[in-house]
Amino acid sequence: MSDINSAEETIFSKIIRQEIPTPLLYQDDLVSAFRDISPRASTHILIIPNKLIPTINDVQEEDELTLGRMITVAKKLAKEECVDENGYRLIMNCNQHGGQEVYHIHMHLVGGQPLGPMLSI
Ligand code: AMP
Repeated sequence: MSDINSAEETIFSKIIRQEIPTPLLYQDDLVSAFRDISPRASTHILIIPNKLIPTINDVQEEDELTLGRMITVAKKLAKEECVDENGYRLIMNCNQHGGQEVYHIHMHLVGGQPLGPMLSI
């Protein structure tokens, strides 16, 4: 486990604080959501905790409410994007083999078209 107290902020912290002008689709006391800068489908949204948690390996029991909130916000945004009925995929990548690029955990909400097989290795 990495040391969460010495975890370095990523660009996502600046987005949460609106220090860079990425439009927020949602924000509350626990989570924020915005569009992925490099969308892989017509709907591609990132839902992130406001608290910096570098990887899923760093999640603590006290984060359970936040992790649950990420799911309910995903559900709400999927409905707003009109992808709820046809379906969508929620993805969280962890570390190198998982393909994680930004070390502030985030849930990808991807949809708007058939997404193909879950994995292509
Ligand atoms: P992951 O590979 O799971 O860590 O995903 C990181 C995601 O963050 C990628 O899909 C990137 O396109 C996205 N991303 C990186 N920088 C930004 C940014 N400034 N605004 C929005 N999305 C970003």
